[in-house]
Amino acid sequence: MRIALFGDIHANLEALNAVLEDSNAQGCTQWVCLGDIVGYNANPGECLELIRSKEYPVVKGNHDEDACGNHSLDTMNPTAATALRWTREQLSGEQRSWLGSLRMVRQISNFTVVHSTLDDPRAWGYVTNRFDATSNFYHQVTDVCFHGHTHVPRVFVQGDRVREEAAELVEVEAGLKYFINIGSVGQPRDGDPRSCYVIYDTERNLISFRRIEYDRETTQQKILDAGLPPNLAERLSDGR
Ligand code: ZN
Repeated sequence: MRIALFGDIHANLEALNAVLEDSNAQGCTQWVCLGDIVGYNANPGECLELIRSKEYPVVKGNHDEDACGNHSLDTMNPTAATALRWTREQLSGEQRSWLGSLRMVRQISNFTVVHSTLDDPRAWGYVTNRFDATSNFYHQVTDVCFHGHTHVPRVFVQGDRVREEAAELVEVEAGLKYFINIGSVGQPRDGDPRSCYVIYDTERNLISFRRIEYDRETTQQKILDAGLPPNLAERLSDGR
């Protein structure tokens, strides 16, 4: 089976549609969403309804949590907070409670998905090096776990010790554990502005990263038209 894993969509409908189209063309028959459906960009309700209508398994991201609550966002980065206040206004009460009902961690067949990391998922820790990844592996019971949150594709492998490998084609080997950041659909931050997602081919034991062009100009214009901070549009061109 070919399974598409995608996340950090952040209300970017053009990018989401491009990724779903590509994964269909690539022969995927199952989809799993790693959270942060909303926040930053201008189509939170549309992205939420699209993902919900497909009944994909979803785990909750920190922006999903912040969008569904009424708590203060004052300690957050001001641009993200502005976008989240706007997002709260766009969503219905029912959409917000759906976001609030999402689970933190899910096991799907033989792998696990989480938005941030398995060690205390509600703390929303960022995994940026092999030491952070080591903390995750203490809690990882499946051979493969996928996550997102940093918007940077990464591959951590635990054998005798934990190492980081290039985020390229991964051949899953027996006896090793893998903790894989699938990158971001709607706001990539690794310097490549194309959407990123992953395909897990469970028969061939291969995990591949896909980079997809989308209609970025439309997304950027929608951000400006909505009155969201203009740097949210600019950063999409830089992939930062
Ligand atoms: Zn995110």
